[in-house]
Amino acid sequence: MLDKYNLYLNEKCIEVEVVYSKRKTLGLEIKEGRVKARIPERVSDKRASSFIEEHSDWIEKGLEKWERVAKEREKSDFRIPSPDCLSPGEIENIKNTFARRVEYFAEVMGVTYARVTIRNQKTRWGSCSSKGNLNFNYKLFFLETELMEYVIIHELAHRVHMNHSKEFWNLVGTYCPDYKERRKRLKAVKF
Ligand SMILES: [Zn+2]
Repeated sequence: MLDKYNLYLNEKCIEVEVVYSKRKTLGLEIKEGRVKARIPERVSDKRASSFIEEHSDWIEKGLEKWERVAKEREKSDFRIPSPDCLSPGEIENIKNTFARRVEYFAEVMGVTYARVTIRNQKTRWGSCSSKGNLNFNYKLFFLETELMEYVIIHELAHRVHMNHSKEFWNLVGTYCPDYKERRKRLKAVKF
């Protein structure tokens, strides 16, 4: 049984970790830039290695994509200071910026809201409660304005649709036609 397989791609050697399990099908995954092959216990080494070789294109593309995501992360890490490093004046400025942008888009979209709170959140960019209280991640302030605005529009759209239905996305699209692209960029940013 293999525990790893060295795949040669354009003179680069990629180490593929081989994990055996009770599953029935052969599978591949890429996580954080590491390639893992999941192989059923009864499959021969020869079959396992040819499976990996047959999927070299998929592995190459997947690794390229991961590299792009990692680069995006580096950029955003650089731009987002830790909340401890922010002065009271900067915090004030962040709060005011959100307050103004929310007020502006709420008016444009014709919706109301209750309170705007800026938080240091680990898992989300924003949220909207049923009472209309809006929360935003302070990190948005340090990303491109378009990304911050997308999240504001997204949360305000929840004042009309408290779900992610087709109607919800149509509404988001009315005020942010390229929301799909912005969403993708936001997903590449590490919290
Ligand atoms: Zn949402």
